[in-house]
Amino acid sequence: MTTSIDVKTYLNYINGNWIPSSLQETYASVNPANKHEIVGYVQTSSKQELNEAVAAAKKAQGQWRKLSGAARGDYLYKVAAIMEKRANEIAESMTREMGKTLLEAKGETSRGVAILRYYAGEGMRKNGDLIPSTDSEALMFTTRSPLGVVGIITPWNFPVAIPIWKIAPALIFGNSVILKPAQEASVTAIKIIECFHEAGLPKGVVNVVTGSGSVIGQGIINHPDINGISFTGSDEVGKKVGQGAFARGAKYQLEMGGKNPVIVASDADLDLAVEATISGGLRSTGQKCTATSRVIVLGDVYEEFKQKLLAEVQKIKIGNGLKNETWMGPCASEDQLDTVLSYIDQGIKEGATLLCGGKREEKNELKEGFYVQPTLFENVKSSMKIAQEEIFGPVLALIKVQTLEEALEIANDVKFGLSASIFTRNIGNMLSFIEDMDAGLVRINAESAGVELQAPFGGMKQSSSHSREQGQAAIEFFTSIKTVFVKA
Ligand code: NAP
Ligand code: MG
Repeated sequence: MTTSIDVKTYLNYINGNWIPSSLQETYASVNPANKHEIVGYVQTSSKQELNEAVAAAKKAQGQWRKLSGAARGDYLYKVAAIMEKRANEIAESMTREMGKTLLEAKGETSRGVAILRYYAGEGMRKNGDLIPSTDSEALMFTTRSPLGVVGIITPWNFPVAIPIWKIAPALIFGNSVILKPAQEASVTAIKIIECFHEAGLPKGVVNVVTGSGSVIGQGIINHPDINGISFTGSDEVGKKVGQGAFARGAKYQLEMGGKNPVIVASDADLDLAVEATISGGLRSTGQKCTATSRVIVLGDVYEEFKQKLLAEVQKIKIGNGLKNETWMGPCASEDQLDTVLSYIDQGIKEGATLLCGGKREEKNELKEGFYVQPTLFENVKSSMKIAQEEIFGPVLALIKVQTLEEALEIANDVKFGLSASIFTRNIGNMLSFIEDMDAGLVRINAESAGVELQAPFGGMKQSSSHSREQGQAAIEFFTSIKTVFVKA
């Protein structure tokens, strides 16, 4: 039976107003911990709503960019304060909508608040350089101009942090925004936009249009009045965004998948490495772009590490993320569950050995949700699909090697290069890893998942468009440099 009593219907936010879709259609956002629970109904929008939002954003941007950075920052501080007050409600909605545990959802919401404050301060920092001209009587400097209207397309796995780490820098640098959130996390996205509304942002500066990727996402790619697109999601969709934006001369930024390794060297602190492999690989049910998915272990510590890892993985408590005792929630959707299970089948077919897990978890009430057991494979070869493709689930592939060189070679033997970590106490190993690992984020004696908001974030190879977001790197995407030459 579907629980639909008191289920709220959420609207688009366009030009400061809450507006239904002209199609008068909605879609249900479902709780992956219990497929019968509908978290909210969200608008299935059409191009008409997108066009209205873009027109409003275009109109609003002219005034918005004229405000001082400090004045724009004041709005972001207000949004942060409102979000902080609503943090528990927002976190709970995130858990109900996409399944991560409440502890993680609360952590992410606090991070969203911190990102807003970080970029609020950015409105008061330097945004140009003074450059000596060859003409001794001239003044030459750079300044930054906003792009104009920015389209933001986000995935469901960090429903608060990712929209905010794009919206906040877009706004502080004088752009207006259209957000198209993932369908699986639209309710949480709308709650964030409510905070912007409550903070009294001028109408049209921030807009949200919900609906499908093929209509609203594609509409953002094609819209001639959207000057920049910031996308996070799969590499498949990311390539479409990049090609479409390039074809019409819009600026774009893509953050895509990962196949992140951890290397466990012979001198590693094995307990620490086990803890970090579990946290990096299985927290959020493995659905982080920076999640560990390949565990490359030196032969002389392989058996000991494997036994310790196996013992800890078997203790993991799966369940509804709202319950205190739950360590790992469900996959975010049925599609995601099916993908994970098909990769597990593929791993078995290709000859990897299943050490634990491997099945859908269907005990008692868990059968109503999209749960999968935390899964460990060994005897994995680098050429296998489970060692090459992003699974986005709680599946770890153990790969045994004999030397650090071999470990690094395998670590780099994928098309992605988002994050990587190594466990070692040896400075030589650390330096080789820093130098030779092709990843945008390399971490030593720390899990592969772990992003700090004040530092640049992005991948190498096919993990990104080679741009960076977050920290002070965000200015590079959300502005254009203008070189100014003045002669009195
Ligand atoms: P996805 O399927 O690529 O979707 C991402 C967004 O694109 C969603 O809003 C989606 O809308 C939209 N979209 C789908 N088709 C589109 C199209 N034809 N044109 C324009 N937009 C379209 O990714 P996901 O499943 O939500 O998220 C998981 C992926 O995100 C993983 O690959 C993960 O590695 C990646 N990720 C990367 C980072 C990073 O920073 N590198 C961070 C987090 C996640 P719908 O919801 O309507 O499909
Ligand atoms: Mg859902």
